[in-house]
Amino acid sequence: MTITANDPDRTSWLHVDKNSDFPIQNIPFGVFLTRDDIITIGTRIGDTAIDLGALHQLGYFDGIPLTDDIFLQDTLNDFIADGRKTWRAVRKRIAEIFDSKNEALKNNKKHKEIVLFRLDEIEMQLPVHVGDYTDFYSSKEHATNVGSMFRDPENALMPNWLHIPVGYHGRSSSIIPSGIPIHRPQGQSLPNGAKKPVFGPSKLVDFELEMAFITTDANDLGEPIPVDEAEEYIFGLVLFNDWSARDIQKWEYVPLGPFLAKNFASSMSPWIVTLDALEPFRVAGPKPLKPQLSYLKYTGKKSFDIQLEVAIRPKEAKETVVSRSNFKYMYWNMSQQLAHHTVNGCPVNSGDMMGSGTISGLTPDSYGSMLEITWKGEKPIKMKDGSKRKFIEDYDTVILRGHCEKDGTRIGFGQVTTQLLPVFNSKKKK
Ligand code: MN
Repeated sequence: MTITANDPDRTSWLHVDKNSDFPIQNIPFGVFLTRDDIITIGTRIGDTAIDLGALHQLGYFDGIPLTDDIFLQDTLNDFIADGRKTWRAVRKRIAEIFDSKNEALKNNKKHKEIVLFRLDEIEMQLPVHVGDYTDFYSSKEHATNVGSMFRDPENALMPNWLHIPVGYHGRSSSIIPSGIPIHRPQGQSLPNGAKKPVFGPSKLVDFELEMAFITTDANDLGEPIPVDEAEEYIFGLVLFNDWSARDIQKWEYVPLGPFLAKNFASSMSPWIVTLDALEPFRVAGPKPLKPQLSYLKYTGKKSFDIQLEVAIRPKEAKETVVSRSNFKYMYWNMSQQLAHHTVNGCPVNSGDMMGSGTISGLTPDSYGSMLEITWKGEKPIKMKDGSKRKFIEDYDTVILRGHCEKDGTRIGFGQVTTQLLPVFNSKKKK
């Protein structure tokens, strides 16, 4: 199957910087507020945002079966629910409209004024209404590191880990777009050596370097999704910072898993890069270390080579890159995660979000959390401004970036940026 929107030889009449994450082969989807305060669904080529609602009203999508208001919405959920055939047709058409060889919109000044925006004229919103959010735990390196620290280095992986894509149900109410600051959470923790818990600001606030995939309506109650069909129901991916409070987590997570340590905020990048756009970057995943049950056995390449990095920017200082990892390190891939999630008949809907779990590589410079990078804070890292970090400090900004690159084509996700503010002060607000 050829996805024509991915044609590596196509160029756009819109300007695209050489190292842009958003060439005409990307065509991601997002939601933004325009300079006129109108909310719309859009895409991006280079540093130009494109109002798809306006394009549709001007007739540029004629011939594709779309409802009139499909792009005039504050979320992508309905568009995603239209299914893969529609996503493909729309991406193909956008590629044609902005192709260097097509002068229809290029030469229509009036239309361009309505449709095109500079990035500083728009405000990105959360791209989907996330109905349900699930977070997996699918990096073997991460699970091994955490198991070594929290339990026993000899038996770091739980007996189920090599058989099940382990996950838990998260909370969608605290999923936020890039750029929204968060407050340091408060909660219970058990200080080392203490017999009773204390209450206060978390001292161990951490990021988790993750990616998340967004699904379409996939199945009815009771109906499992076969592993080799799972990708049909994956719309696309975002960068995902699953904020965590390690001291709260350590005290609360037994026996039911993470709770308040994980649900105070999770930040996502605003442009959803479609699975179609990532097609050229497929790679084989890690070989199973133990035989997997048949509903988890897949054919073909289902991992993706996505280079990831994390930077921390202290207040009024330059950023320091603290980790470089890759999505391809994941032991369990998205298809296995979705097959497992639905094997009991659990329905998955349009706009659901599935986090990968922290993505760590083999070496400390590729670990996906401060917990691992500084080994519980035992090995602080040095920042460019001379300061040291064990975990995230007040006013630090955490930035995740990701992109794929092959044969001269680069498809990226931009970034997700979040500043950590001090504990919420209700008095100050009044
Ligand atoms: Mn997580």
